Amino acid sequence: MKLVTCKNQFLGQVCNWVSFNVSREYAETETKSFNKYFKTLPKKIQKEFYGGKGASITFYEQCFRCGGSYKNFKRALKKEIPLGSTMQPIIDRKE
Ligand SMILES: [Zn+2]
Repeated sequence: MKLVTCKNQFLGQVCNWVSFNVSREYAETETKSFNKYFKTLPKKIQKEFYGGKGASITFYEQCFRCGGSYKNFKRALKKEIPLGSTMQPIIDRKE
């Protein structure tokens, strides 16, 4: 698993949020799989837990923190990687 750091500008500085790379194919498969499940849920649950929206490939193209493009991520340096944190997937910038 390759860890990458967001180099988009956010609130006047570099974001530096760390994510892990996935392929576009993986993101599309996960999106389709989740949306299939999402359609089986009652409308109330869809709204309460997921804001009434299914998954979208754009979630994998944007930084979880700042919303910046996946194209501006660089391989994470060891000192940038937080311990015990939840990380989100992001599409590899080379895809
Ligand atoms: Zn960011």
